[in-house]
Amino acid sequence: MDHSNKRHTIKTCQVCQSARIYYLFTTCDCRVVRCDDCGLVFLNPQPSDDELARIYGENYFLGSETEASRAAVSEIKQATARLYLAEIGRYSGLRHGRLLEIGCGDGDFLVAAEAESWRVTGVEYSPSACEKVRCRLKNGEVYSGELQSANLPTEQYDLCVLSDVIEHVRDPLDFLREIHRVLKPGGILFIATPSIDSWSARFMKQKWMEFKAEHLTYFDRQTLQTALAKSGFRDVIVEAGWKILSFDYVKMHFERFPVPLVTPLMRFVARLMPQKMKLKHRRIVASGMMVFSRKSTVPPQPVLSVIVPAFNEVRTFGVLMEALLQKEVPGLQMEVIVVESRSTDGTRELALKYRDHPRVKLILEEQPHGKGHAVRTGLQAATGDFVLIQDADLEYDLDDYDCLLEPLVAGRAAFVLGSRHGGRNVWKMRQFTGQVGLSLFVNFGHGFFTTLINVLFWQRLRDPFTMFKVFRRDCLYGLEFECNRFDFDFELLIKLLRKGFQPMELPVNYRSRSFKEGKKVRLVRDPLAWLVTIAWLRKVKIAPMSVLERRQNTSMARKD
Ligand SMILES: [Zn+2]
Repeated sequence: MDHSNKRHTIKTCQVCQSARIYYLFTTCDCRVVRCDDCGLVFLNPQPSDDELARIYGENYFLGSETEASRAAVSEIKQATARLYLAEIGRYSGLRHGRLLEIGCGDGDFLVAAEAESWRVTGVEYSPSACEKVRCRLKNGEVYSGELQSANLPTEQYDLCVLSDVIEHVRDPLDFLREIHRVLKPGGILFIATPSIDSWSARFMKQKWMEFKAEHLTYFDRQTLQTALAKSGFRDVIVEAGWKILSFDYVKMHFERFPVPLVTPLMRFVARLMPQKMKLKHRRIVASGMMVFSRKSTVPPQPVLSVIVPAFNEVRTFGVLMEALLQKEVPGLQMEVIVVESRSTDGTRELALKYRDHPRVKLILEEQPHGKGHAVRTGLQAATGDFVLIQDADLEYDLDDYDCLLEPLVAGRAAFVLGSRHGGRNVWKMRQFTGQVGLSLFVNFGHGFFTTLINVLFWQRLRDPFTMFKVFRRDCLYGLEFECNRFDFDFELLIKLLRKGFQPMELPVNYRSRSFKEGKKVRLVRDPLAWLVTIAWLRKVKIAPMSVLERRQNTSMARKD
C-alpha cells in the first residue's frame, strides 16, 4: 500500500516527548501547534510526501527564472556563505578541513567553501540540483537523496552545515543524531534556521513569512539548544541570523510568498529605487538564528554537579554532606564539588574527611574571597551535564532536587529556579521569630529587588533570588563572571537571562535562617552593592562569540 499521500500525525513533542500539544492556528492548510511543556512549535499533522514533492518542484529555489537573476542570487548566497564560514572560524578557529553540507541546493555554499580550501561533500534531495552542483564543484562530491539513505561513513567530517534545512526534516532529533554519528569527535555543527523568537516573528505573528507548509518545525533559541543537548552536542552559541541580501532578492521572496501590506509596499518602493541600489548587498538580521555547537561524547547516564561553597558552616556542613552523599536522583549520577574557603571554625577539618570519597571533589582555597568566588571556582571544576548550587547551610531541602531536575532531564527546560513562594506555597520566607520589624524590612527589600529585575529584564519572576538555581552546564558556555560576593547570584541569573534562557520556576521547601543563626547578608551595605551590580548588569555587554574569539587568540598566542 502506498502511504505517500497520507499526512503524518505527531503524537508527542519531538523535543521533550510531552503529549500536551495545543492548537495555535491554521496556515497554508496546515495546523500549527505548540508543545505546552518546552514551547516547540510545529505543523501537526505534517504534509504528506506527495504534498511536499509538489512544493519542492524544479523551481523551488528562488531566482531560477532567468540567467541574470540566477547569477545575482548565486552571488548573494555565496556572500552569505562567506559570512557563515567567517563566523564558524570565530567560534572554533576552524578554517579548513572536511565540510559536509546537508540540503546543499544549487551548491552556492559548497562553491564558496571550496574557494576557501575546504574539502566539500553535499547531500541534496533533488536529483536535478545534484547534477547542477556536480558541474560546479572542482573536487567535491554530492550524494542524491536524504541524509539517512546516503549512508555516510562514521566520524569523517570536521564541520557540518545546515543552512535553512532543519525546519524541513520530519524528525529533527533523529536527523541531529545521524549528523552526530558522521562528525569527527569534537566536530562542529552549524545551523541557520528561522527563529520563532526573532523580531520579525514577534512583529508579524501569524503572518510571519516563515510559516509555510514545507517548514515542519519552528525552533526558538531554547528549543533548538535542548534538541542539540539531547542529541549529543555541547558548547552551544546562538547568534542573530545575519544574511547578505539585496532589495531585489527580498522583493522576489515577497512576490513568491505574498504578505498583505508588505508585498504591495515592496512593489511601490521598487518603482522608485534606482537599479544599482536594488542589487546592492546588505548585511541584514533576517528572521533567523545562527547556531554553533560541538559534538561531544554522550555519557551513559547524565551527570549532576552539586557545588557546595563552604565557609564557617561547622554546625551544618557535616549534616549536609552526609545527606548529599546519601542522596540519589533517579536517572542521574552525581559529583559533589566542595569549595572550602579556609574557615576558622573547623569546617576545613571536616571537609578534609571527605577528600577521598569517590563522589567528592574537594577544592581548598588559600583564603576566603567570598561566596561568589567559591562558586565560580566550583563551576570551573564541574564536569556534569547539569549544575546545582547548594549552600552549606540547611535552609533548603534536598528532597526538592528530584522535582527541580526532572524538567532538565526531560528537556522541558534549560534553567530552573526553585521558588520559595511559587505555586501554592504560603509565604515561606523570612519569618524570624520575635523580629517582626526585621522580617518586614527584609521582605520589603525582596519585593523591591524582584520588581526591579522584572522591569529591567522583561521578566515575570516571583523569586529570582533563590539559591536553588539548577541549569544545564552548557548554558554558561561563552559567559564570563567576575562577581565575588553575594552579587554573584545576580550576575549568574541575569547573564543567563540575557543569553536568552527563560527560567522555569518551581516551588521548593524552605526554612529561613535568622541572622543570629549565621545568615551572612549585611542589611545596608549589601543592598546598595546589589543596586550597583544590577545597574552594571543591565549595561554590560554579553557577547559569547567575542569571548570565544578572545580565548582562541590567547591560546594561539601561547602556542607561538
Ligand atoms: Zn516539547
